[in-house]
Amino acid sequence: MNKDIATPIRTKEILNKYGFSFKKSLGQNFLIDPNILRNIVQHADLTEESGAIEVGPGIGALTEHLARSAKKVVAFEIDQRLLPVLEDTLSPYQNVKIIHSDILKADVRTVLQEELADFKDIMVVANLPYYVTTPILLKLLTENLPIRGFVVMMQKEVADRITARPGTKEYGSLSIAIQYYGFSEIAMIVPKTVFMPQPNVDSAVIKITKHKQPPVQVINEDFFFEITRASFAQRRKTILNNLQSGLTSGKEKKERIIYALESCGIEPSRRGETLSIQEFGKLADALYPHFFNQ
Ligand code: SAM
Repeated sequence: MNKDIATPIRTKEILNKYGFSFKKSLGQNFLIDPNILRNIVQHADLTEESGAIEVGPGIGALTEHLARSAKKVVAFEIDQRLLPVLEDTLSPYQNVKIIHSDILKADVRTVLQEELADFKDIMVVANLPYYVTTPILLKLLTENLPIRGFVVMMQKEVADRITARPGTKEYGSLSIAIQYYGFSEIAMIVPKTVFMPQPNVDSAVIKITKHKQPPVQVINEDFFFEITRASFAQRRKTILNNLQSGLTSGKEKKERIIYALESCGIEPSRRGETLSIQEFGKLADALYPHFFNQ
């Protein structure tokens, strides 16, 4: 087996060889601990038949571990300066395809059709750039791609919000958005010391397993998400007050919101953070005839 990229010595060697300087604006904190990488890959349950999608391979630390465990790795990297580095560090692996692109602008569906066409099992495994964690996850979840799930590193605070359950202070519209598409859990907490340079925040790896069917069937998904966002707009306000400010005006708005809430058995004085995804689903459908498209 080849020497790991992710040791402090080898990483420094590679960075010096290419005169590479980190760009904070691109969330470049590289992993320098092979044990963490092995753990991340284990959580993904890859087989020799699996495909892996990576966002931001950096100098290839995680990519090489994925290349050893999966049949093929497709990695999207925004920073052009890393392309020659990756060509060098990943030269022992024939099963890696690097795509030079901003993941948020990439046509991921077409890339998957071209690169992972016959793969029955595809996982997203990444140490995400923290400045765009949520947009990346939401893009890859909402585009209805043929993937089993995600094992991704992010800042711990975001991981706590994503995996939060009703009634906790971290629970919010992000928890519900992710819950709508999959089951999420924290796989491990990661200390700052395994990164170069060390980030200012704590990190965690989460695992999301996509649902075959969403846990609630709603009339209109966009409206459902709009209602959940509005319900958490000001956390100290009641759901009635938040909806009153969030929904576009109309005649007897307050009365119509109270009517919808009561028809779902939801006390208007409750706060958004106490509602389950099922309650939000019911509520969105009850509000829909009154408030959609006004
Ligand atoms: N995977 C490497 C590791 O674990 O050592 C690097 C992870 S580093 C946290 C994030 C990587 O994402 C960097 O290589 C950065 O250049 C890349 N990146 C940042 N924004 C990106 C974007 N919008 N699309 C694709 N890659 C991006």
